[in-house]
Amino acid sequence: MGIPTVAVHSTADAEAMHVRLADESVCIGPPAARDSYLNIPALLSAATITGADAIHPGYGFLSENAGFAETVEAHGLTFIGPSPEHIRMMGDKIAAKRAMASLGVPLVPGSDGALPDLATAREVAAGIGYPVLIKAAAGGGGRGMKVAADPSELEDAWRLARAEARAAFGNDAVYIEAYLDRPRHIELQVLADAHGNVVHFGERDCSLQRRHQKLLEEAGSPALNPAARDALGETVTGALARLGYRNAGTLEFLYQDGRFAFIEMNTRLQVEHPVTEMVCGVDLVSEQIRIAAGQELGYRQSDIAFSGHAIECRINAEDPIGFTPTPGRVTTYHAPGGLGVRIDSALYAGCFVPPYYDSLVAKLIVHAPRRADAINRLRRALDEFAVHGIQTTVPLHQRIVDDPEFQAGDYTIHWLENFVAK
Ligand code: ADP
Repeated sequence: MGIPTVAVHSTADAEAMHVRLADESVCIGPPAARDSYLNIPALLSAATITGADAIHPGYGFLSENAGFAETVEAHGLTFIGPSPEHIRMMGDKIAAKRAMASLGVPLVPGSDGALPDLATAREVAAGIGYPVLIKAAAGGGGRGMKVAADPSELEDAWRLARAEARAAFGNDAVYIEAYLDRPRHIELQVLADAHGNVVHFGERDCSLQRRHQKLLEEAGSPALNPAARDALGETVTGALARLGYRNAGTLEFLYQDGRFAFIEMNTRLQVEHPVTEMVCGVDLVSEQIRIAAGQELGYRQSDIAFSGHAIECRINAEDPIGFTPTPGRVTTYHAPGGLGVRIDSALYAGCFVPPYYDSLVAKLIVHAPRRADAINRLRRALDEFAVHGIQTTVPLHQRIVDDPEFQAGDYTIHWLENFVAK
């Protein structure tokens, strides 16, 4: 877009690719995230001394922190994202479910709000029927979530979920949902401008997860037809228009037996946004910036066309069997290329992957006219990918693409856990 860009970084990321490529960079603190990437005064100082107009929060750290969005706006800068009010509402999963229910969006059956004590949890679980899932109201990253298969497991699940939620989020409010046995995770990408226009860019299937963390995502879903997508899209865009939502957002659903059930909304760009960009031919980040600048979308739902199929593999710096993080120095780096291959990567030969942050280091995205072609392209690209010096999840993805069930699109959210256990 021709907009000069300032990168911020901790001392651990001084050599990072984004720091090297940005027009300017500012160090905002030591490695520990609370002293750098979560340090709001340091971020605002960096914005002020460089004369920045706006802050894009990315998809980690403070990207769903309503207080940060408020502080940015209070300092006369533009926060590239939704209003603080909507970030706060959707950050509390109980409030999010209430809001969506009132707007006509179907939910996973569950408790109406937070559970005050174990006795109430027992009553609610009996009413819903086992198995149930205890979830943290402030949850994220798959933390604070515990399954109880039957009444004898409820007390332990209750205690563990609350303890994990307290430690991770400083908030131990929990609620209960029916634990679905074979759903797919299907989410809908939405953009809304400040003038009341809301459109969706179709669905992503993110069912391939380990410990509730996505590893491979597809657009569209092998399980959905255009009519089901259109119906879901109409419900969701109608709901967000009535809410007065602005900027990018994703509504996450579980999909089982032909029915959608809302679980949460992310009020930010998501890691897996490239698969949507590939099938819709849209640059979601530049759209976020245009919307934050007050521009109108300038297109309608009927202008959005879906072309072909896209798959993203998350390449993590992890050992592909035990999944322990593998920070270290990358000695050799070769990324695949060619038609329909996209790499969004932080890696280069000689870079150091620090031990302090999330282990995602690259995303490999392929796009092709049909899903079977995309899978072939993905196999070839994975074979070409060379990262030496650290271990990555590339070998796991190579195994997945060769699996007949994956090739048939025949999987649920539980599939990958079983696959990695084989
Ligand atoms: P987080 O915000 O921690 O990512 P989510 O509510 O998005 O939590 O759930 C993460 C994943 O956990 C979902 O994608 C799904 O795989 C699983 N999950 C969540 N709720 C349920 C449920 N009621 N039944 C079965 N699986 C669920």
